[in-house]
Amino acid sequence: MRAGVVDAEGTVRDTARAATPRSDGALEAAVAGVVAQLARRHRIGSVGLALAGFVTPDQRSVRFAPHLSWRDAPVADRIAHRIGLPVVVEHDANAAALAERRFGAAAGASTVVFLALGTGIGSALLLDGELYRGAHGVAPELGHVRVVPSGRACPCGKSGCWERYCSGTALAATAVELLAGDGGRSSVLARLVAADPGQVTGQRVAAAAREGDGVAIAAMADLARWLGEGLTLVADVFDPELVVVGGGVAESAPLFLDEAREHYAATVTGAGRRALARIRTAQLGEAAAVVGAAQLARELNGV
Ligand SMILES: [Zn+2]
Repeated sequence: MRAGVVDAEGTVRDTARAATPRSDGALEAAVAGVVAQLARRHRIGSVGLALAGFVTPDQRSVRFAPHLSWRDAPVADRIAHRIGLPVVVEHDANAAALAERRFGAAAGASTVVFLALGTGIGSALLLDGELYRGAHGVAPELGHVRVVPSGRACPCGKSGCWERYCSGTALAATAVELLAGDGGRSSVLARLVAADPGQVTGQRVAAAAREGDGVAIAAMADLARWLGEGLTLVADVFDPELVVVGGGVAESAPLFLDEAREHYAATVTGAGRRALARIRTAQLGEAAAVVGAAQLARELNGV
């Protein structure tokens, strides 16, 4: 887990890190530990916790988090009890989207779709400037919208989900598929696959694409097409004015974003006869969720 001390301008003043333990109690103790560590050096007013998981609409409890032990756990109250400070909990993509709206790429925008392309797709929706959470607090899960019937299996239990074709993981999977076909012999990625296909990661594919590797460039083009394709679905449902693309994959945006925009513009419903969403990269990088969680925490204190 990463923690940061964030000021009112959204600047991260200090950071701390800790391992993520497995059990509820150890997890809560670890969060309290990093807060205590930072509180020795700074005056902390309140704490925001961002995580990948389903958070209740009151931002107090975690219903389910795939990588953490919390199940229907009153996390905010438990941690507040340990540290003696107000605590708020938020989905990490929601927190990042709020930070981008307040301090980054979505400043001033009212209808925004935020996508964090990493291991999967983290997504958030701002409608009229407010987070949209759905009736039960679990919306949106755009990464698990099915784009390919009978497509790649997804850990969520479905198949053909958008994030299986448009994420760092997807980039690696596509490169391995292309290498298994013909024509991948000269690729620098071929050596990695021969040793262990698990060594092909999204980051390595992106690095190879930057160096002009044919297979890696083709994998990037595939991601670009699926990003554009998914955005046409998103546009049909939400008609956003702005799409912000963040997450680790966004660091390689020059390799795919223009192509994604073109595919989106050419294939969206009513192409050529409607206003299109602007598509931009996120500005706050990997600090976005920390900055957004801190902003929510600041609002708890009415400042
Ligand atoms: Zn899925």
